[in-house]
Amino acid sequence: MVSRTIPVDSFDLVVIGGTGDLARRKILPALFKRFCSGQVAGESRLIGAARRAFDTDGYRAFVRDALREFAGEIALDEDAVAKFCATVDYVAIDARGDNGWQDLADLMEAGAAPDAVRAFYFSVGPGLFSEIAQKLQRFGLTNEASRVVVEKPFGRDLDSARALNAQLAQYFDESQIYRIDHYLGKETVQNLMAVRFGNMLFEPLWNAQYIDHIQITVAESVGVEGRGEFYDRAGTMRDMVQNHLMQLLCLIAMEPPAHFDPDAVRDEKLKVIRALDGVQPHHIVRGQYTASDGALSYREDVGNERSKTESFVALKCHLNNWRWAGTPFYLRTGKRLSHRDSEITVVFKDTPHSIFGPEAGRHRNELTIQLQPNEGITLGVTIKEPGPGGMRLVDVPLDMSFAEALGPSADTPDAYERLIMDVIRGNQTLFMRNDEVEAAWAWTDPIIRGWEARGDVPKPYDAYSAGPDDAMLMMRRDGREWKGLSK
Ligand code: NAP
Repeated sequence: MVSRTIPVDSFDLVVIGGTGDLARRKILPALFKRFCSGQVAGESRLIGAARRAFDTDGYRAFVRDALREFAGEIALDEDAVAKFCATVDYVAIDARGDNGWQDLADLMEAGAAPDAVRAFYFSVGPGLFSEIAQKLQRFGLTNEASRVVVEKPFGRDLDSARALNAQLAQYFDESQIYRIDHYLGKETVQNLMAVRFGNMLFEPLWNAQYIDHIQITVAESVGVEGRGEFYDRAGTMRDMVQNHLMQLLCLIAMEPPAHFDPDAVRDEKLKVIRALDGVQPHHIVRGQYTASDGALSYREDVGNERSKTESFVALKCHLNNWRWAGTPFYLRTGKRLSHRDSEITVVFKDTPHSIFGPEAGRHRNELTIQLQPNEGITLGVTIKEPGPGGMRLVDVPLDMSFAEALGPSADTPDAYERLIMDVIRGNQTLFMRNDEVEAAWAWTDPIIRGWEARGDVPKPYDAYSAGPDDAMLMMRRDGREWKGLSK
């Protein structure tokens, strides 16, 4: 199969916070990989901006180090690294003051075509968004083809998200604002839409009549990893459920949009969030990991012996609409779990009548969409166990492994590669709209407020386990089991 890389017109990408962790780990390697694929046109520029006093050569060396550390084998190509670094510039700016902004404006005026896309990646804490947006306007840095990219956390509740949206809206039209959720950049997540809406096979069955329940698990084996202070203020509900799990839920549950265009897709996602029922307190389990297997406890990790913040959430929710009435959705996510495993499992109902009798056992089709650590889709089907001795049934996976089916050119790009190029192309389909973010907070807020009002203490679970026993019990009470992630 021939890979199709469509080059984009020259652009300027300014990474504000270009010396930070996200820039080093994700943004710089992603742009470098797109550069190597031939997608980034020759005149394009990457401009780093932060307070640190780098000159251009110093920042290029910083970029080279970041690529060596995080871009993988492709960064062994010294020639490619040198060519990429030649497109890199740096300006020292302070978001809180006027320092450097005129220099950035002068640099941007020089070189690029006047109508070239200018993308500003706000790779800084949300507390700086408003000031940066204001400076971009005041120093004449934006044009009609400008866009801004903002990272999570997009607020910590509905009020703060509304305030952030309002601040950005003062300076930019919604069509210029790209709120990143990197889960949406994953190839398999997009494949979920292709599988659902590109095949006749699944969509007629995609409803409460045929689907028993749907599970979404996003499990991490790592702990809070240097983000202790931030994490302890946020917790899993804000850090993972409100954004990543909610976005996955939307894609799995939404109605077919009329077209694959940004607002049509986002309108349907919004309807899903608005159809979500409130979660009953006995349908949600919060957990916090304790020391085990050589790992410190959550409280030790965040340096707060009294912390009541959750590092795990499992919940059951329902959608109040015709398609899903009666089909529960189970969401589960946490840190320091037994292994890294993100998957969505669609569990179909039993056949209405078994011609093979009770001894054939219970067999159900399951569609598993694996997001991490590997990406792929597996359909579990029931067949006859080979050999003599009657009709014994067995479940086997019908594996849709993209690498095998499509050959080596099916190398899946990192989510950031895809999303950054979508920003440049002006395609907002995989980015969250203001109303989506606010609706997600409107659903999350009462849950968090309920915990706070009750002084809820999370259930302890051993580090590197499958989470608190109560999460298992919640499923078992419903006669179901979590998929993946074992003790
Ligand atoms: P970080 O390592 O602390 O980097 C912050 C960046 O902002 C640095 O480049 C810093 O550079 C710059 N900065 C801070 N104050 C500034 C100011 N007044 N003016 C100009 N620049 C300033 O943070 P990060 O991990 O890269 O995260 C950036 C954003 O992405 C955060 O909102 C975070 O929540 C989000 N995020 C990060 C990750 C990740 O993997 N790291 C993942 C998802 C979301 P100077 O100190 O040189 O100014």
